[in-house]
Amino acid sequence: MALGIGLLMPPGPDGRPTAVYLIDMQAVCGACGKEALRRYFLSTPFHSLTLRKLERLFDAAPDAIEGVCEQCDAELQPEDVERWSLQYAPADGQGLLLALAEREGETAWRAVPHDHLDVQSQPVWSWDRQDISVVALPSLNEVTFTEAFARAMNPKSVLRQAILAFHDRSHQAPLGATFTESGACVVEAAPGLEFWIGSADGQHQAVASRPLRATHALLVEDGTIADGYPDAPARWLGDLATFLSEISVVAFVDPSAADASLRRHFHRFPIDLQFEDAGDILRVIAGDGADDHAALEFQPHAIAKEAARTGAAPGDIARAEIDRALTLLDFTNPV
Ligand SMILES: [Zn+2]
Repeated sequence: MALGIGLLMPPGPDGRPTAVYLIDMQAVCGACGKEALRRYFLSTPFHSLTLRKLERLFDAAPDAIEGVCEQCDAELQPEDVERWSLQYAPADGQGLLLALAEREGETAWRAVPHDHLDVQSQPVWSWDRQDISVVALPSLNEVTFTEAFARAMNPKSVLRQAILAFHDRSHQAPLGATFTESGACVVEAAPGLEFWIGSADGQHQAVASRPLRATHALLVEDGTIADGYPDAPARWLGDLATFLSEISVVAFVDPSAADASLRRHFHRFPIDLQFEDAGDILRVIAGDGADDHAALEFQPHAIAKEAARTGAAPGDIARAEIDRALTLLDFTNPV
């Protein structure tokens, strides 16, 4: 992509969004000892990416090394990799997660809540212990991630945990979950995304009591798990069906979180842009807007609806929409 705009959530072969993560590797040629540095932009399906999956991908990262030593032409092997690091960012553009591993050592995880993924950034081989903007995570789990970034890595994991806690109060509820007087479990899993889990007969009251939330989706309606569209809850709640009898689950989404994410991402692009609010449409105009291809249109309400239906953060789906548009249009080269 031209002008330094790197895709962070390009559509995968099935058209569904992927999440990009950046891996740097420092290897030593097994034949001659010459150091080799490699950088890879890898991607994985977005909707099924969890912390555990990211951890596994990072642990297995050296397997992806390829190419030959520039000094002796020997093929580089996974066992030649001595150190490797990860840069991954929540797709709403708020925060950066770093990991650093050595072949014979533990993996260290760091959160940088006020940074974001820059595809042109330097490899991370160490951290400054004095840098107070970087938070050391003693371990990587839902609690440490949520505390650092004020959101869940994958809201679906939060919902699954909340359903288990709703079913059996002795089960650990997710961070920030509360139980209402009527016994429903409510949890905000990401900015602008709230899940409600309660008895099926309380569902209408729950929807009616949220006038400020502009959109919602019924993920489970009286025990029936929504299905029939890509990344529908049946794909990721199906194994919990026995806990969902006579239960409803509603996702409430605030479109302003999608709007904010769109603007945040576009503000970082190295091009002159203007925003134009046209009813439910946010128009993003490059340059003077004279060229037909210099404007993109986004619908924050539609993005919010997609986020609600798939149990995803609206800010993340907003970025997926940007990358989908960028792959369709040569937006980065306005005339
Ligand atoms: Zn060599």
